Amino acid sequence: MVNPRRILVPLALALMVAAGGTACAPVRSAIAGPTSSGAPSPSATVTSTPTPTPPPTSTTTGDFDKAALSTTDPTSYWVIVNKLRPLSPVSYAPSDLVTVPVAHDNPAVMRSTAAAALVQMFAAGAAEGAGEMQVQSTYRSYPVQRRVYNGWVSSRGQAQADKQSARPGFSEHQTGLAVDISTVPLKCALGACFGTTPQGEWLAANAWRFGYLLRYPADKTTITGYEYEPWHFRYIGIPLATELHKEGVETLEEFFGLPAAPDYAH
Ligand SMILES: [Zn+2]
Repeated sequence: MVNPRRILVPLALALMVAAGGTACAPVRSAIAGPTSSGAPSPSATVTSTPTPTPPPTSTTTGDFDKAALSTTDPTSYWVIVNKLRPLSPVSYAPSDLVTVPVAHDNPAVMRSTAAAALVQMFAAGAAEGAGEMQVQSTYRSYPVQRRVYNGWVSSRGQAQADKQSARPGFSEHQTGLAVDISTVPLKCALGACFGTTPQGEWLAANAWRFGYLLRYPADKTTITGYEYEPWHFRYIGIPLATELHKEGVETLEEFFGLPAAPDYAH
């Protein structure tokens, strides 16, 4: 297991640089989770019959069913976490965390499906000329986020703490589906200029192909509640990422018709 003390300092630095911090909430493998063990089923009571398609609802746009997965279940790949939507329960921790076998500045731990997609995305970026990438920050547990946030509250007060760090339970990094990406060698780490690096430009244009979303775009800060973070990507699965790309919708809040979340309720 990772010793939390070893990542606390870089984590605090990262949060400091990334004013506003980041949110996190995990989603479950309702669609893409592993379903087959590869072993034959002796009783054949478990079939491979595809899950029946749910009946159309008013939330269906075209042939995309916006109700296919939960946006509130922390285990759902579509869970939406922002300053008005904490994880429920707030102390949620994913059960399928794995070490991501990629270059990293800090320990790289994500949910397994998101981890596999990240490996593919980094490889594709390098193969397509974007250059090498590495992980700057991935999963942050509730206790780690609480420690960091409370540290800011103690030293600067809550108002300033809220500008520097996400509150525990409100960070997308707690889902195990969010990742902060930087370049190799390190340049513009956790800075807006990352968006102008070859890696940042490639990610902005291609992350959807791997099920990732640039979660905090420059022109949507009043909706997401976070400043432009060209380094922060959230795994939402390829079907939803593709639909957002196709429709030109930048945020989960807009796509699902949720209220803007510029700040905490209290
Ligand atoms: Zn982040």
